[in-house]
Amino acid sequence: MSFLNKVGTSISDKSKSAVKKAREMTELSSLHSQISAQEDIIDRLCLEIGKKVYEKRESFPDSELEEKYTAVSNAYGEIERLKTDIILVKGAKRCPHCGIEVSLDFAFCPECGTAVPEPQPRPAVENIVIRPGDVVYYQNDSAE
Ligand SMILES: [Zn+2]
Repeated sequence: MSFLNKVGTSISDKSKSAVKKAREMTELSSLHSQISAQEDIIDRLCLEIGKKVYEKRESFPDSELEEKYTAVSNAYGEIERLKTDIILVKGAKRCPHCGIEVSLDFAFCPECGTAVPEPQPRPAVENIVIRPGDVVYYQNDSAE
């Protein structure tokens, strides 16, 4: 084999190996993205399962999950309180039964007829950002 032939072979081997490497990278990237897609499906379904389990917590109590049930209930309670605050900031009051915004002029909810009491003055709310990782557990109202 002449010198030039050897050089040619070597370059061709290198480019073959580069092509093989590129194919391998493409295949790996595709496999990784397929794994990600399956993980997304699992995450979405587990979230749905988790919500169903939470909704049925009364029928299927689970001491292992009790703390998390309480944290979720507290978060739902906090959302309700914040929705009430939004209505108060807008200068109205909130129906305690159906939750709609009711004008301060009305003693009863125009939607469901429930008596809507005058809003209680609330302490000023600070901007508190609760990130998904910050799960706060409360034992009861007196605990911090
Ligand atoms: Zn109502």
